[in-house]
Amino acid sequence: MELGLTEEQRILQDMAKDFAQNEIAPTVEEDEKNHVYNEKIVKKMAELGFFGCIAPEKYGGTEMGYLAATLATIEVAKESPSYGVTFNLQMNAVQGVLLAFGNEEQREKYIPPLISADEYGCFALTEADTGSDVASMRTTAKEVDDGYVLNGSKMWISGVPVSTIGIIFAMTDREKKHRGISAFMVDMKTPGIEQRAITEKLGLFSSPTGEIIFEDVKIPKDSIVGKPGDGFKIAMYMLDRTRLSCAARAAGVAEKCFELAKQYANERTQFGQPIVQFQMIQDQLARMWCEHEAAKLLVLKAAWTMDNLEQAGGRPTLAISTAKYYCAEAAVMAANEAMKVYASYGYGTEYPIERYYRDAKSYQSVEGTSNIQKVIIARNFIEKRD
Ligand SMILES: Cc1cc2nc3c(=O)[nH]c(=O)nc-3n(C[C@H](O)[C@H](O)[C@H](O)COP(=O)(O)OP(=O)(O)OC[C@H]3O[C@@H](n4cnc5c(N)ncnc54)[C@H](O)[C@@H]3O)c2cc1C
Repeated sequence: MELGLTEEQRILQDMAKDFAQNEIAPTVEEDEKNHVYNEKIVKKMAELGFFGCIAPEKYGGTEMGYLAATLATIEVAKESPSYGVTFNLQMNAVQGVLLAFGNEEQREKYIPPLISADEYGCFALTEADTGSDVASMRTTAKEVDDGYVLNGSKMWISGVPVSTIGIIFAMTDREKKHRGISAFMVDMKTPGIEQRAITEKLGLFSSPTGEIIFEDVKIPKDSIVGKPGDGFKIAMYMLDRTRLSCAARAAGVAEKCFELAKQYANERTQFGQPIVQFQMIQDQLARMWCEHEAAKLLVLKAAWTMDNLEQAGGRPTLAISTAKYYCAEAAVMAANEAMKVYASYGYGTEYPIERYYRDAKSYQSVEGTSNIQKVIIARNFIEKRD
């Protein structure tokens, strides 16, 4: 796909492709099997500048933009959906928020070590009883003389238990509902914080996921990002950026599943001919082709929108939720069809298809479910009546 990318964007894309194929792919199966989060891989991603795309040079970034980051994310996710998540944790979430809402001190403190992967980031919205309904969260941040005290817990948080810093959303004023949520930059080693891994899950085994418990966690006053009560607005802003990253990962998985199924259909023979000769297999491949092409175009459009907000007419939310919804569904569709092309060999673990099939399912839930993306999209079609 050409689309008039700049030379700089193309170089980053090629670099990410080489890196993913030569440095992630050789150990990906073993690392997934053993639930290994390989810090060396994350450090190398940092050295290649993958996490600096959205930050200005003064913080160690390159300002190459979201389109460049999206191209790199797609290439990494094609080999490892798990390491694709790292873009979100090191860049899109925390850096995105601090660049828009953080003060200069917070930016200088947190952005450079996220770019260099000297700190590992996370963002924590979800709780055991509140997923889509973010505004009902129960974790509290009580203001005291010289800071805030956090109590509560977060669930299904990517990067836990290895995260060292995180953006934590908590209620500072429950009466005000969503206007009572605030956002805090928190050192995850602060006394009273416990990070627990969730090991019993379907996939993404090289991407840690976990629970965070806050028990009387004292954090300084200057931990707050923006003003008290800005948390919901910050969360929605952040989700636009993390959904873009998720859509890129899903588009990468859809493309990879198509490529693997195409290769297998040309190699596998039945009834004396490669199975690609059967029209029903051609139908599957043709549909997978269309889905992954459409997914990729939508995510590239969303990324372009992020980089050209003024030209695109303001908020990127519709373009991003459209891409997130479509790419998630395309990834699941492509993985499902690829499993059928591989048949029993897809069901076994000799080929990587079952891994993509398991990992693809995450895209329909994370960063807001497919239903929630449709709710956001449909809001644009409801005309206001008196
Ligand atoms: C691997 C993984 C990593 C994750 N990483 C993070 C992270 O880093 N940080 C973080 O904060 N969270 C994270 N999450 C949590 C994830 O974002 C939530 O699980 C997700 O938002 C959905 O919440 P829920 O699972 O509680 O589902 P629920 O909100 O309980 O939804 C259940 C069902 O009801 C539907 N539903 C709910 N509300 C509506 C509605 N208004 N209209 C129509 N249908 C609706 C949903 O679509 C879904 O089908 C992660 C989850 C996973 C699995």
